[in-house]
Amino acid sequence: MVDGETCTCGRNGCWESYASATGLIRQTQRAMKANPDSKMWNIAGSIDRVDGRTAFDAMRAGDSAGKQVVDTYIGYLACGLINVINIFQTEILCIGGGICKEGDTLLKPLEAQIKRERYSKFSSHQTRLCVAELGNNAGIIGAACLG
Ligand SMILES: [Zn+2]
Repeated sequence: MVDGETCTCGRNGCWESYASATGLIRQTQRAMKANPDSKMWNIAGSIDRVDGRTAFDAMRAGDSAGKQVVDTYIGYLACGLINVINIFQTEILCIGGGICKEGDTLLKPLEAQIKRERYSKFSSHQTRLCVAELGNNAGIIGAACLG
């Protein structure tokens, strides 16, 4: 996104700065400041203790601001995934990271958005979205295998 969020890489508007856990935490903290009555305050305890689960837990507790954060975040994640799928059309696309522990709460709306926006909708070959089996260790195990 042009002129978007500042990313840890030094650029602005990287997908990472919206779709990572760090991005989700920033979006959650902003929503908390804008919604002093949100259940996210009780769930996190304080603004510096927000994590990737805070908005999801608030949504499950019926909090509308929490649901808004989750919906927007999933939209950002889906947007990037759809671009990757439309460009590379791989057989499988694995996603990882702690947010994947949300399971179907994350995957079902992601799959629905991908289904709506993929170029290959009329093809018999479709990219399958799955959660990386090695979870958060995938990166470090991959790095060790290269050595
Ligand atoms: Zn970046």
